[in-house]
Amino acid sequence: MKKTSLSANAFRSWLCLDCNKLVGELYMVHNGLWEQAVPPPHQKRMLHLACLSARIGRPITVEDLSDAKCNDGYRWFAGAAR
Ligand SMILES: [Zn+2]
Repeated sequence: MKKTSLSANAFRSWLCLDCNKLVGELYMVHNGLWEQAVPPPHQKRMLHLACLSARIGRPITVEDLSDAKCNDGYRWFAGAAR
């Protein structure tokens, strides 16, 4: 198996674009929303859910999340809360 070392750059990509703190939550929103909130060249970077919602000026909803596997937990919690 090929070993991949984690460069400082890879670590930096886990820091929030806005508050520069480590992003602990993994989620994917729809491409259109991300492109609107995060202009190039920062689209490979990450944002906290709270920082992203501050950028777009409204809360992020389950409907904003893409079908990515990493969103399953959020969908489950949203369904459980209904
Ligand atoms: Zn943040």
